[in-house]
Amino acid sequence: MKKGKVKKDKEKIKQYCSVCKETFDMEVVRNDDDRGGVPWLKCPGCEGFLPYMGEEDSDSGVDDHEDQQELAPEDLSMEDRDNARVYEQTGEYKIDDIIYQRSWNDYGKVLEKQVLPGGRKVIVVQFINQGRMRLLEGAEQ
Ligand SMILES: [Zn+2]
Repeated sequence: MKKGKVKKDKEKIKQYCSVCKETFDMEVVRNDDDRGGVPWLKCPGCEGFLPYMGEEDSDSGVDDHEDQQELAPEDLSMEDRDNARVYEQTGEYKIDDIIYQRSWNDYGKVLEKQVLPGGRKVIVVQFINQGRMRLLEGAEQ
């Protein structure tokens, strides 16, 4: 006898969110089999979307693995692009802001804010073409 109904419940995967700095059971929002089978998860803390990165990744640095974080052009709606802020290093940005980097002609989403030793502030941005980049923010000119 087969198992009754096809289970279409929301699948959840436990993953660490580098924005919230916590591990959550995240809802799988999309399973992109044709793009390498990376499931996308929704963080219940910050409501951000992030690709599933595997079990063992929680506290090792992710900077070397920029190919694990993807932002596809279709992830940004026309509205996002219209509302994108042109990046300037003197600007201040928030997590989830969509920014436009004029010299690269590239859109990106702010994933994280960091303060470097010496008090310099940076934003970590996932760009569609450039991948994951650190950019200065709030810099003096
Ligand atoms: Zn989060």
